Amino acid sequence: MIDCPFCRIVLRQSPADIEYEDDVVLAFKDIYPKAPVHVLIVPKRHIASILELQLDDVETIGRCFVAARAIGQAKGFGERGYRVSINCGPEGGQAVYHVHFHFTAGRRRATEI
Ligand code: AMP
Ligand code: ZN
Repeated sequence: MIDCPFCRIVLRQSPADIEYEDDVVLAFKDIYPKAPVHVLIVPKRHIASILELQLDDVETIGRCFVAARAIGQAKGFGERGYRVSINCGPEGGQAVYHVHFHFTAGRRRATEI
């Protein structure tokens, strides 16, 4: 049994409401949404945290941003905009140690999240 909750979602061993998928990236609804639209974008390959990011991970992380753009366009926020944020490490509010981008949209003041 893999002990990373987001690897389990990637492997379809745990349920998730999937919003987007390509060869490198998976995105699914946050179970406790903090905005009208709250999607988590994760690399399929396990990277624990930005705190451990390597140069070899740059392409993978870049693909997460491209996925964010695709999700934004698909959900009608391509021009209105949205927020993409990453919690990094214990004092950065990171609870799940598989890098994930919070895609949040639909709030007038996105920085309240
Ligand atoms: P963070 O504090 O940045 O590590 O955020 C972790 C996020 O993952 C939180 O917003 C949780 O609500 C969300 N979360 C945790 N487990 C799951 C899950 N199984 N499916 C969807 N979202 C999850
Ligand atoms: Zn993982």
